Amino acid sequence: MSDIKYVSVPNAYNKEPDGWREITEGEFAQSMFFTYHPVSHEYRQIIQGNEPVISAKMFNMHDGTGVAMSSDYWDKKVRYYAYGCQHEWGGKLTDEEKNVKLFRCDHVYKCKKCGFFQVVDSSD
Ligand SMILES: [Zn+2]
Repeated sequence: MSDIKYVSVPNAYNKEPDGWREITEGEFAQSMFFTYHPVSHEYRQIIQGNEPVISAKMFNMHDGTGVAMSSDYWDKKVRYYAYGCQHEWGGKLTDEEKNVKLFRCDHVYKCKKCGFFQVVDSSD
């Protein structure tokens, strides 16, 4: 099994997580936010140079990635962000991963970049 590098880093309340990027409302609409439950929530006030502080409500997902929302109170707008690895499936499986018992409709995914490994039952 892979070691997932979780994005939660203690005492990083003013730092953006790895892979932090602004996404469109459309990308957020198609994100895991609406198909999975986050494993944890976080709130950070992210400071990037001289840019205004981003007050981010973050939703950490099971695969080490996440999505976040930040409101601009005075402008009455919401900005959307994603973070973590942008997985690229097709990574080489370890012997242990090759031996995972699979059932009908199970699909194996392994990220080439971060090593995240999961089995998804497509019959759900
Ligand atoms: Zn990945």
